[in-house]
Amino acid sequence: MSDGSESDVEEETEDLLEDDSTTTASTTAPTPPTPATPSPTAATLNRRRQPRGRGGRAAGVSSTDLHPVDPNTNEVVDTHLSVLEKRYRRFLDNRHERIYLVHPELRTVWTDLDARIAKRAALVPEAAVVAPADKDGPAGPPRMAAPPTLLLRLLPFQEESLAWLLAQEASDLKGGILADEMGMGKTIQIISMLLASDKHPGHPTLIITPTVAMLQWLSELTKHTAPGTLAVHVHHKKTGRVTDAADLARFDVVLTTYALLEGDFRRSTYGSVRKAGKVIEPSVLQNVEWHRVVLDEAHCIKDRSCSTSRAAFALKSTVRWSLTGTPLQNRVGELYSLIRFMRLDPFSYYFCTQCSCKSLNWSFAGQRSCTDCGHRPMDHFCWWNSEVLKPIQRYGGFGPGRVAFEQLGRLMNLCMLRRTKLERAADLGLPPRIVVTRRDMFNEEEEDFYQSLYKESKTRFQTYVDAGTVLSNYAHVFELLTKMRQAANHPYLVKLNMAPSATTAADSMQVLVCGICHEEAEDAIVAASCRHVFCREDMHLYLSSSGVDKPQCPVCFRPLTVDMNQPTFEPPNPTGGTAARKKPSIINRMVLDRWRSSTKIEALLEELYRLRADDKSIKSIVFSQYVNFLDLVEWRLLKGGIRCVKLDGRMSPEQRDNVIKAFSTNPQITVFLVSLKVNPAE
Ligand SMILES: [Zn+2]
Ligand SMILES: [Zn+2]
Ligand SMILES: [Zn+2]
Ligand SMILES: [Zn+2]
Repeated sequence: MSDGSESDVEEETEDLLEDDSTTTASTTAPTPPTPATPSPTAATLNRRRQPRGRGGRAAGVSSTDLHPVDPNTNEVVDTHLSVLEKRYRRFLDNRHERIYLVHPELRTVWTDLDARIAKRAALVPEAAVVAPADKDGPAGPPRMAAPPTLLLRLLPFQEESLAWLLAQEASDLKGGILADEMGMGKTIQIISMLLASDKHPGHPTLIITPTVAMLQWLSELTKHTAPGTLAVHVHHKKTGRVTDAADLARFDVVLTTYALLEGDFRRSTYGSVRKAGKVIEPSVLQNVEWHRVVLDEAHCIKDRSCSTSRAAFALKSTVRWSLTGTPLQNRVGELYSLIRFMRLDPFSYYFCTQCSCKSLNWSFAGQRSCTDCGHRPMDHFCWWNSEVLKPIQRYGGFGPGRVAFEQLGRLMNLCMLRRTKLERAADLGLPPRIVVTRRDMFNEEEEDFYQSLYKESKTRFQTYVDAGTVLSNYAHVFELLTKMRQAANHPYLVKLNMAPSATTAADSMQVLVCGICHEEAEDAIVAASCRHVFCREDMHLYLSSSGVDKPQCPVCFRPLTVDMNQPTFEPPNPTGGTAARKKPSIINRMVLDRWRSSTKIEALLEELYRLRADDKSIKSIVFSQYVNFLDLVEWRLLKGGIRCVKLDGRMSPEQRDNVIKAFSTNPQITVFLVSLKVNPAE
């Protein structure tokens, strides 16, 4: 560290001590946990990125209004982190004071949050009973029994959520996020809420689902509600689709898909090109005054700027719900879409720092001034970004980032309910889950193979490092790692897999080969930019781990655009159905009489035999990322006298159905091999 920066720190520390001495009066204020002392290197790195926002402070407001400082933290004030935190707080304080002059209601947003949560809790419907978790134990959350029109018994945790859902609708929040883990019956919880709440004639509930899930919703609505209770309409197929908003408004529940929502919005906003020229069609969905909108699998709108999200944001409704099993897939930023959809005040709003202008949309693209207030776009800021997102992005779990995480947690308490299967295993009647990690050593041959692959990979990686081109060679690095993972399963996966090269969607006569794993693509998707084909799962992994803003195609290195929600790509096949395509199994490529098993396969067999020793009919499911590996496992199991079936992304929906039926009904078939790339939604 240079002398210059050290004296800078000292100067800051003096400021800090001075500031703290003025705040000793606030000892009753809640105390943030003492920050851990970071290593000097980390602090030095962080220092470079801290905001430069020092300036005069308006009289009458001290920093303690926002972030109380405990005098006991004096012990650590000389750490760089405290300096950093202090500076950032001061930056925020200055900014806040300017903002409070024009938006006084923002001053108490965070302090009011707990009061808002308490107010919501007080709105639990009268019919809700407070049932103790166990007889003598403390009372659990309030629970509400489903109305008799629900032809199904709710599980205890679902009765809790029914009370929560109704309270949430009655509060000023008018909705929220139901984020129970997958498989806990979010659909049935929503249906019970529909039945338990009043109807609003002329203002139906709109439920938007992925295309594959819509019929599931319809069947659950039909099966579990008393006949005649809800008038349900499926707004989907082009033929016979209701084109008049007033006709749609006559139903109680309207089911539709994200694809239809998006198309309906796009054609009404941007128009569609016809022979007669550009045509603007009136939107049906946007012209109904909904009582309630429910987004199933709400992570479909995690990209706030895509037109599906815009369409969802634009819907007119009193109540708004998001359902998702994965509220946070990768980044905190993705939560914004859900907050924005809810129109959560003030978190989803943009505020002008110069005047009282407040709006939900960032609508300054290409403009030099705000259409509402005339101030510059840069005078406007989003409360969510500045209070939650930016501090977390910039500082992670430390200092201002930690404060933001804590605030985010409270915000989620206000609007989100999430339970996991593990927490509610007793309610669900599930056996406990036991995770065992088994470690085996390579045999000599595998070790040699792996080591030479490892050395080769290391050398190639080092050349990228030396040339400073690691990021632009990201796809190659990804491939090196994939190969090493495959080698740990069975060397054949690498040795016998050199031949096929990645295909594009134009090579329709060929088998589709994924440009990432170089196996036949499972649940294939096509890059819009270059028509290269990939397994959906591999592309998902590739994108989520690449960490760059503008990813490149792993095959051709052109800038990559790919729609992760596109349907599975099926090449048109002029010579017959898709089932007639040749499927070259890895088994065809190996010389059978020189077959060698692998340590991993033999370890699996050992485990399976051990299970069968206790119970011959016991069933097992084996997952793998690589369908070629499952081919090898299948071959070995059959050789070892274990009957199995295999489910992978190369199969048609009917084939999949048959395989699942066979496994669940035939007692002879005891092992189910499942490729992790099979799209679970199908
Ligand atoms: Zn303004
Ligand atoms: Zn404005
Ligand atoms: Zn792949
Ligand atoms: Zn490409």
